[in-house]
Amino acid sequence: MQRKVLSGVVALVVVLSMVGMALAAQPGFIPPPDSWDETYEVVVVGGGFAGLSAAYFAKKAGADVVLIEKMPFVGGNSIINGGIYAAYTSKLQLAEKQGESDSPEQHIADTIAGGDFMGDPALVENLVYGSPIILDLLLDNGLQVRPVVARVGGHSCFRTYTTINQTGADIVAVQKKMVDEAGVPVFLNTKMNYIYREKPMEGRVLGIRVETAQGERNIRATKGVVLTTGGFANNKEMVKVQAPWISDDVGCTNHVGATGEGLILAKQLGANTLHECYVQLYPFADPDTGILDAAAVVPCNGPGFGMVYVNSEGKRYVDEGERRDVNSMAALNSGGFPTFSIFSDEMVDLCSTREDIEKFIKQGRCLVADTLEELVEKINARTYRGQKVNMPVENFIATIRQHNEYIEQGVDPDFGKKIEPNLAKKIEVGPFYAIPQWPSVHHTMGGVKITPRTEVEDIWGNVIPGLFAAGEVTGGVHGTNRLGSNAIPDCAVHGMIAGTMAATGQPPVLKK
Ligand SMILES: Cc1cc2nc3c(=O)[nH]c(=O)nc-3n(C[C@H](O)[C@H](O)[C@H](O)COP(=O)(O)OP(=O)(O)OC[C@H]3O[C@@H](n4cnc5c(N)ncnc54)[C@H](O)[C@@H]3O)c2cc1C
Repeated sequence: MQRKVLSGVVALVVVLSMVGMALAAQPGFIPPPDSWDETYEVVVVGGGFAGLSAAYFAKKAGADVVLIEKMPFVGGNSIINGGIYAAYTSKLQLAEKQGESDSPEQHIADTIAGGDFMGDPALVENLVYGSPIILDLLLDNGLQVRPVVARVGGHSCFRTYTTINQTGADIVAVQKKMVDEAGVPVFLNTKMNYIYREKPMEGRVLGIRVETAQGERNIRATKGVVLTTGGFANNKEMVKVQAPWISDDVGCTNHVGATGEGLILAKQLGANTLHECYVQLYPFADPDTGILDAAAVVPCNGPGFGMVYVNSEGKRYVDEGERRDVNSMAALNSGGFPTFSIFSDEMVDLCSTREDIEKFIKQGRCLVADTLEELVEKINARTYRGQKVNMPVENFIATIRQHNEYIEQGVDPDFGKKIEPNLAKKIEVGPFYAIPQWPSVHHTMGGVKITPRTEVEDIWGNVIPGLFAAGEVTGGVHGTNRLGSNAIPDCAVHGMIAGTMAATGQPPVLKK
């Protein structure tokens, strides 16, 4: 009898160890731990717009939540963002005050057309209908914005709000305050390096493994893991594989942590991905550094107010109101390096603030002169990545005069720019300003495939139970090309959906 029991135990041990070996033998699969170091209902990974939003809404929906961030501070790309936010309306109703009108249908149509009809309409609807909800919530929690809305490239309406200091840090500060007040613990310097699933390519997501200065820890998520780890624009190898047309000398606007490992870990457990080859260049980065500094946001806000982009020959090369991809390709094909945004004193308060422009002038990022001739002298006197330009003054003056006529007539026969004569200004009265600019790697439109409820789908089209994603780590919202100022609402709205879904299994209602 005793011998029978013993041989039974031995057989069981052998079978169990064989199962363990089989699971461990699956390439890349690590079996879930027998015991966990910590347990929460919802584990949000990545502390940018999407993650802060997910953590806040999961907590507000009653869940026990933790937010994990690999860097020493939250914010990611969101904290260095330019602070421009697209919403068809808000409690401030700035467009209406400027005499302009807008609608959710128009914002949806612009976003879908701006991505060559490759974006998922249901995700775009989330972005558009959720955008004013999030903006109003942020305003209620102390966010301040500037008093003008802009028409940014690819948008047909004046719907882009700018935060008071023209930086995403304004929004991150409000979101962080909301997360803290809600009582969500935030673990910094804590990097997710594995996502646990019940079985290889099968079953529920159970939690994550993180590395910290004190070693590795396993964190269990009983209701769900929300992936908000951002894009991969600062992972040169991934960008090279996905978009080999981008040459090595092109800079990058992203923070150092935009390296895409969240996307790779999701793929490892079977997540489907899409649109990874769509990598956006920002057309107006600092030509010396490739960085999207505060001065580089001014050209983005300019087209509706009459700003002109000229090449190193002093000629226009694009419809300034065009999408970013069109603007970037036109710049790269403009025949020289760099290009310049030109505007007059009257436009300063519409596209920026006087204080900011003064700062950019002191930094050498913005050139100023009393006459157009002197402005060209200053453009030609400077170097750009060690190179000089030799802009012919007569070309430049002819370009500006011609453009002034187009503003007066309300049509642009050269490039077909949309001109609202009541809002677009002529470049007639000095001082005149020039901001040098050049394309730089900026946004990764592709990522994990999600349902409109932010559930991550696997490569067979099934939802992976317990895994949600939001923000730049996802694909399919923007299609081939993201419109400027659409990322903040994308991230924050889908973060709201993901947090609520993980906590309750139901999405929030967005349409009124
Ligand atoms: C310079 C710049 C300016 C921009 N300006 C605008 C703008 O004005 N308007 C607009 O709409 N969009 C703008 N964008 C785009 C927008 O800012 C981004 O798409 C958005 O911030 C992405 O938010 P996110 O929450 O998805 O990712 P992020 O804000 O990048 O946050 C992801 C976080 O996850 C963390 N993380 C990553 N991997 C791990 C891991 N393994 N473990 C733990 N943590 C991890 C990262 O450190 C990071 O903090 C700008 C982008 C840049 C780079």
